[in-house]
Amino acid sequence: MAESMQGLKRTYRCGELSVANIGETVTVMGWVQKNRNKGGLVFVDVRDRSGIVQVVFEEGKMDEELISRAASLRSEYVVAIVGRVEKRSGAVNTNLLTGEIEVIPSKLRILSESETPPFPIEENSRTKEELRLKYRYLDLRRPDLQRNLMMRSQVATLTRQFLSKEGFLEIETPVLGKSTPEGARDYLVPSRIHPGSFYGLPQSPQLYKQLLMCSGYDRYFQIAKCFRDEDLRADRQPEFTQIDMELSFVDVDDVIDVNERLLAELFREILGVEVSLPIPRMTWQEAMDRFGSDKPDIRFGMELTNVTEVVKDCEFVVFRTAIENGGTVRGINAKGQGAMPRKKIDKLVSFAKDFGAKGLAYIALQEDGTIKSSFAKFMSEEEMQSLIHAMNGEPGDLLLFAADKNKVVWDVLGNLRLELAKQMELLHPEEYKFIWITEFPLLEWSEEQGRYTAMHHPFTMPMEEDLKWIDSDPGKVRAKAYDIVLNGNEIGGGSVRIHQNDIQEKMFEVLGFTKEEAYEQFGFLLEAFKYGVPPHAGLAYGLDRMVMLMAKEDSIRDVIAFPKVKDASCLMTEAPGVVDDKQLAELGLETREEKE
Ligand code: ASP
Repeated sequence: MAESMQGLKRTYRCGELSVANIGETVTVMGWVQKNRNKGGLVFVDVRDRSGIVQVVFEEGKMDEELISRAASLRSEYVVAIVGRVEKRSGAVNTNLLTGEIEVIPSKLRILSESETPPFPIEENSRTKEELRLKYRYLDLRRPDLQRNLMMRSQVATLTRQFLSKEGFLEIETPVLGKSTPEGARDYLVPSRIHPGSFYGLPQSPQLYKQLLMCSGYDRYFQIAKCFRDEDLRADRQPEFTQIDMELSFVDVDDVIDVNERLLAELFREILGVEVSLPIPRMTWQEAMDRFGSDKPDIRFGMELTNVTEVVKDCEFVVFRTAIENGGTVRGINAKGQGAMPRKKIDKLVSFAKDFGAKGLAYIALQEDGTIKSSFAKFMSEEEMQSLIHAMNGEPGDLLLFAADKNKVVWDVLGNLRLELAKQMELLHPEEYKFIWITEFPLLEWSEEQGRYTAMHHPFTMPMEEDLKWIDSDPGKVRAKAYDIVLNGNEIGGGSVRIHQNDIQEKMFEVLGFTKEEAYEQFGFLLEAFKYGVPPHAGLAYGLDRMVMLMAKEDSIRDVIAFPKVKDASCLMTEAPGVVDDKQLAELGLETREEKE
């Protein structure tokens, strides 16, 4: 039977009670975590989002009726307890914040009963994720998820406080917008009033925030929902959240400065971690050359070495062909891994193949000075020695080489480096290493589309000194773009924008848009730029990913209240769902696919 809470008022959250409250009469409300009946002595743990407190019902100390009602409590009943805080009579529980005290009740109300939940509500649940997502409202009761969502709220609050102190205005931009499918696929919303027309849900507020700069709001931010209808990749969500910002009358350094201070504030306040400023910067080219990645994890070394020059004359065809085809040969040195069993090396080879390598060449330097190598027979003694020397190889090391086009070599060794670091336990979870990656290429050649695409987006400003190559060698032009990387994860990125019409038009031309096409899609922006546009730049963080890293979780699903699964469906609400024909007719739509 559910009782009302009339006449009662919660005075504390369960986890807030401590020795400081001893002697005080308090009222707590929450869920029964567990109930241990020792005959005449009933221990009830009551839980809310702040923690757990132990309530002790003891024969002789209180009404029989109170004790028998306590004995009837089951997991997840919602209760209100009035009682006195006392020092724990039994063993102190150092695992609990409230472990030194207990509550001796004078009142118990059962506010609501509960059926047996489909899985236990507990920290580090071992229940399958599908089941937990189906009952997400129960899953969200678990302390780990509650901590994550509270941390997320704290990130949002501190961000708002910090940015408003820095003169930023929080401005909302539309969710129903125009479809501009550059980049990922848009989610479309059919218009009832304009049959056959569709809104596109924003992939980011990019165009609106640039327009806000044209309108003079010189510092904008928004914690914005974004939507991308991408193919199913691990740990992506069709809707996700950005901390989005844009600033006028600034250049790269200004954006970096305010964001470094924002990050330092968040990490200090929430994690007690001091981020030492300035955060180091590295150009894209250097990141690729040294780490094989534009989001390098710099918590460990194992950097790439380019040995193309060293091996260019050797007889090993794999190396020679790669070099002849304009590629390179690069290697990494896995220190102390020279004794790795052949089987394990083979696993690394197939790992490398997953990233496009045709193979992986290795030299395992044994402690006794001998060498095991997959290609020694094609090399002279001297060539082998100079290669080992170039790699700083010492007895006991494992040297791994990839030979191919740069892109493949970087990808293979960049990922191999991370895999080895995992195996060698070089990734310390307590370490937070930030780095800015700057000077990205402006354009990327797309084999699929047979044209250049924007590496960031089409509004990104080329580096002034590279503009001279925009016609002759567009691939060489660098952009005023930057990413902020934390422990090998890109957590944010942005750029200085083009604010000159002629450069913007040129950019569209290089991207293969006709003037009409550019106007068709982005006309309102190009028009706006005719009426006085300030130089501007901005950046957006992936909030989900940032909180995931701060909370040391492996998936963004663990920091989103109601996430979707890989196929973009929600296991709890069963969205997306079919709608009835009347709704479709109103929208002027008919479906071709069979309804599920
Ligand atoms: N709108 C960009 C993005 O979503 C970020 C930016 O350039 O500000 O990646």
